[in-house]
Order: sequence, then structure tokens, then C-alpha cells
Amino acid sequence: MRCPYCAGENTQVKDSRPTEENAAIRRRRVCPDCGGRFTTFERVQLRELVVVKRSGRKVPFDRNKLATSIHIALRKRNIDSDRVERMISGIVRQLESMGDVEVHSEQIGALVMEALKGLDPVAYVRFASVYRDFREASDFAEVLGEIARDDAEAGTTAAAAAKRPVTTITTGRPSPRSRPKNTEPKNTE
Ligand SMILES: [Zn+2]
Repeated sequence: MRCPYCAGENTQVKDSRPTEENAAIRRRRVCPDCGGRFTTFERVQLRELVVVKRSGRKVPFDRNKLATSIHIALRKRNIDSDRVERMISGIVRQLESMGDVEVHSEQIGALVMEALKGLDPVAYVRFASVYRDFREASDFAEVLGEIARDDAEAGTTAAAAAKRPVTTITTGRPSPRSRPKNTEPKNTE
């Protein structure tokens, strides 16, 4: 797998172990070219899903997008990451089990709200308020991202950056560290 930091092709698997109650394999990888470390997850995909947006537009279902929305809603809530991964996998399984290749963005939002309700009330309110106002799955991450940036401007960026698990990314999504140059917030923004 290509290194998310330097795009080197020689990354090596250091360690593989089952996770999420054997529903996934977690692999720790290291890049000999730049020393970068990252983690990938291998999961069963029962079927290819297509998301039908409110506008009627259809896009391939992307687990990473769903995970991003959920992680933003759960930001700073200190919920066990394995539990969150199980929740995400549970939502995906439910979508895959609905018997239709096409799922509507409203169905995904409803499942996420149902799951968050049991997991964390604050994250539930965050997600629900955004979902109900916008009714468009693609807007979740965007707007929740704005909320996160507002928090960052309140002076918590350094603390958040220090706590960020720098070595952990999910398959196919570039790590924040892979962005060119620095990611420090600019005062001019
Ligand atoms: Zn590298």
C-alpha cells in the first residue's frame, strides 16, 4: 500500500491483528522511505451501495465519509474508538442488509442518529441538529467541520493536535499529516 505521507510504494506491514471482535483486521504499516507509520483496516464488504441524495444525485457509498461525520460529531467526547468502529460497522451492515443496492441519505442519517442516541447524547444532539437542518448527508461533514473549526479558533487547536493519534488513518483516506506544508491555523482566516 502506498505511503500516505511520501507516496512511497515500499511500505511494510509490521503487525496484523483482528479487531472489532474479529470483524476487521488491523495492520500497522511503516514506510522505509520516510519513516511514516500508519494503520489500515481490512473489512468485509457485502455489497456495493449507492447513496441517493435528496437532490436525486447518486454517489457510491463511502464508509470513510460516514466515519468522518461520526468522528466529528464525537469530537472530544472521549468514547472508546473500538466502540465507535463497531458502531460504524453496525450501521454499514444495516445498510447492506436493507436488500437494496440504493440507500437514501435520509436512511443513513436516521441510522446514525439512532446509533449515536445510545452511544453519546452530546454527539447525538450535534449530529441531529445538523442533520435536521440540512437533510443532506454530504452536508454533515462540512457543517460539523465548521463547528470543529470554531472550536479550534477558541484556542483549543494545540491541545487537539497534541491529542490527535498521528499514526492512525483508515484505508484510502489521506492523513491530515499528508497535507502539504503545515496545517497550523492562520490568524487571517
Ligand atoms: Zn513514506
